[in-house]
Amino acid sequence: MTRMLIIGPPGAGKGTQAARICERLSVPAISTGDIFRANIKEQTELGQEAQRYTDQGNLVPDSVTNSMVRDRLAQSDVDNGFLLDGYPRTVAQVEELDKILEVNDTHLDVVLLLTADNDELVKRLLGRAQEQGRTDDTEEVIRHRLDVYDEQTAPVVEVYDRRGIVTQVDGLGDIDEVTERILATLAR
Ligand code: AMP
Repeated sequence: MTRMLIIGPPGAGKGTQAARICERLSVPAISTGDIFRANIKEQTELGQEAQRYTDQGNLVPDSVTNSMVRDRLAQSDVDNGFLLDGYPRTVAQVEELDKILEVNDTHLDVVLLLTADNDELVKRLLGRAQEQGRTDDTEEVIRHRLDVYDEQTAPVVEVYDRRGIVTQVDGLGDIDEVTERILATLAR
């Protein structure tokens, strides 16, 4: 059983790879970005609150995000492992996740760091903007999200690196190839 996190800059391919890895390993994917987008689409109270931040490429406040993840991780389908995508994204969220998992005497087993260089990221995100019409995929917001990653999320990788659970996977190349790379890493 594996409790995993996939992390990396916006555009590295986390969502795509998370879905594939979860299918192969039969564990649920938990994507905070997807949960926010679903709520925004339905214009729930949570969605309306989140949209003020996601549209600008800013992080949704921890108070909102943490309780959403706490509720999700209380569901029984995560008992045999899970893959988190997009959470934790700040050092404060790491501490919160530690507390959530501690209650069940568990912890993250592995952190997959998916990498790609900045030019490639911007290119992919602009492509996705056209395909999916995400409101946070305009060039200005994309650049801001990359800055937010460097400032707030890169330190998360450092925390897990000190715990010795980070494995880095090159996110460049064919989608299938990257999936195989990740699975090979996990099998080790
Ligand atoms: P993503 O699909 O992971 O790129 O997330 C899209 C947007 O959702 C982000 O730019 C944030 O506004 C918000 N979001 C997703 N995950 C988190 C999180 N862990 N903490 C705060 N905001 C988040």
